[in-house]
Amino acid sequence: MGIYERLGVRRVINADARLTRLGGSKMPDSVLAAMAEAAESYVDMVELQAAVGFRLADLTRNEAAYVTTGAAAGITLAAMAAINRGDLRLVARSLEGELPERRRIIIQRAHRIPYDVVVRLAGAEIAEVGNALQTFGWELDAAIDERTAMILFITGDHLQSGALPLAEVVAIARARGVPVVVDAAAQLPPVDNLWRFTGRGGVGADAAIFSGGKDLRGPQASGLVVGSAQFLAAMAVNGSPHQRLGRPMKVGKEEMIGLLAAVERYLELDHTAAIADLERSVARWIDRFGSCPGVSAVRQFPDEAGQPAPRIRLSFDEAAAGLDGATVRQRLWEGEPRIHVAADGADGISLSFGTLDGDDQALVADRLTEILVKAAKPATT
Ligand SMILES: *Cc1c(COP(=O)(O)O)cnc(C)c1O
Repeated sequence: MGIYERLGVRRVINADARLTRLGGSKMPDSVLAAMAEAAESYVDMVELQAAVGFRLADLTRNEAAYVTTGAAAGITLAAMAAINRGDLRLVARSLEGELPERRRIIIQRAHRIPYDVVVRLAGAEIAEVGNALQTFGWELDAAIDERTAMILFITGDHLQSGALPLAEVVAIARARGVPVVVDAAAQLPPVDNLWRFTGRGGVGADAAIFSGGKDLRGPQASGLVVGSAQFLAAMAVNGSPHQRLGRPMKVGKEEMIGLLAAVERYLELDHTAAIADLERSVARWIDRFGSCPGVSAVRQFPDEAGQPAPRIRLSFDEAAAGLDGATVRQRLWEGEPRIHVAADGADGISLSFGTLDGDDQALVADRLTEILVKAAKPATT
């Protein structure tokens, strides 16, 4: 009996994105081996964080890198760094619950997402600029004043329509001495995003933040921050192992070493071949399900997080197929094995193939066929 079965917890075959609520990603052997070895010794954590950061910076063509316990933790620590700039007098006041006036974080309205609120843990106030459809440079410039601590930029193709582009935001912020931090949590692939926002030859943001537990397939509780040495040093001042406000977001030695192993592996992968693989899967599924009665199958690109990777959307005409998207989803989830697919509108579901390995993809296709056959009305003669 497996470790989950003993607890009565069902395993999930995940045909969707790498989601926190489904356990993030599956770690490759090289990452697991590195974490197991890291767990075998005591080590000086400040020294380890610095050495891992140095190596990650080198690998990602950045001035500096810092490991957090997830991208969301990276956003909170970035907000702390922007507010106290790592100045120990301001840090000391923050421990007494006193924050400087300069604690506003500007976010474009077109960028508002459920994760951005974590800046409030740092005591930040959120100031929105622009509207849901557009932001102008003059609006951003006018929104910056002596209370502005940072601009949080959420990246991803699906959020950029109408938003001011990063290069313009950085130019305006630079002129006013305000740091720009990019939430790029789900923006791998493409791999060059690791240096495109912050690194040598990049757009010039102060920091970019990635999830370790998504496409990188590092530990679920890890995040990668890359960027300027000065800004990341201010983040570290607030973070563990120091007994300061960032302390609850402790990063273990296993996560630091595991994330490093994951980034090393990721840089060696053939990403073009991986995308071509996804395209073949999508084409195969369109072939197989597009001709089923009442089912329509279309390729989606970019994917749900705006990444340059294809997915598939299947929609169901209830009268012809005998069931709707929500029912298909429910039957996949309740069946054996348990399968998760994304809801996509009232009549549809959508699937990614990057999370499926071995026989998983064939298994999901067979279960879906079974569900469709059972629901099909018997042909009238
Ligand atoms: C996933 C995600 C996060 C949170 O990342 P964690 O590593 O799970 O903390 C933050 N922002 C965006 C845009 C995300 O997609």
